[in-house]
Amino acid sequence: MIILNSKLQLSAYTDNVRNQHNSIGFVPTMGALHSGHISLVDMAKYQCDKVVCSIFVNPTQFNDLNDLKNYPRTIEVDCQMLEKAGCDAVFIPDVQEMYSTQELELKKQGVEDKSWTEGKDIDFGIIGRVMEGAHRPGHFNGVAQIVSKLFRLVKPDKAYFGQKDFQQLAIIRSMVKQLDMKVEIISCPIIREKNGLAMSSRNERLTPLERERAAIISQTLFQVKELQKQKNITELKDFAENFIKTEPLIQLEYFEISNSETLEPVINYPQANKSAVACIAVKLGGVRLIDNILLY
Ligand code: AMP
Repeated sequence: MIILNSKLQLSAYTDNVRNQHNSIGFVPTMGALHSGHISLVDMAKYQCDKVVCSIFVNPTQFNDLNDLKNYPRTIEVDCQMLEKAGCDAVFIPDVQEMYSTQELELKKQGVEDKSWTEGKDIDFGIIGRVMEGAHRPGHFNGVAQIVSKLFRLVKPDKAYFGQKDFQQLAIIRSMVKQLDMKVEIISCPIIREKNGLAMSSRNERLTPLERERAAIISQTLFQVKELQKQKNITELKDFAENFIKTEPLIQLEYFEISNSETLEPVINYPQANKSAVACIAVKLGGVRLIDNILLY
């Protein structure tokens, strides 16, 4: 596996792959890799000739500086895991490589300069305003900013994202459409721990007890799915809120049932011929966790 640190090295590598008529599957990550990430690499390997992964803890998508500071970084183990999974190249830039000094200075000052980069000023409409959009101001524009930069450099045929970040997937699809990018977005299923907890790099920051108790997050979603035919929307939401409240270590940030395409809150349930997704965000021991499940 080749390790690339500069944009120049990365585009030289991907240009070369393309010139040899090989397709490129791209898996962007923030590192601290687990089996969820590796499942995206596996899918990319299955569908493409070469797999490129990136590891970059992107400062512009963090709305909480503590979260950025405490984000787990395990680069050596990450590289071993990627190599074992058969990844062909990994791009590991530092912050200066990805952002100009001006971009970083403006971010530090909290100045919103719409002229920076293309992803930064996209309006995602409702998709960008509900749930994570409402609770993490600026997060999705930071995601779009870095992913558009990475897509322009790698020019992948396909790019792989986890359904774990369901709203992020919708944001990326919207970005690709609005910027007329050629890449095909592939969504991959959520990989869970044995107790049902969705795998996440942030799980590393939980104590063993918290990790055990965190199982109630997915249990809530599984229960809601079981009950979806018996209860109306208000009853389902009440049920979920009361169920999660039984765990005193957890604070619920939101539980929402949304149209799985538009992400608009579902009011009349079930909606004819439309699928819904139940999404949850909680805080547990200072760590913010999200999960979701498709309902029907
Ligand atoms: P991150 O490193 O958290 O930015 O995640 C990188 C990619 O891995 C994103 O597309 C995530 O949705 C995906 N991912 C993270 N956790 C999981 C999981 N448990 N199952 C499937 N995909 C995941």
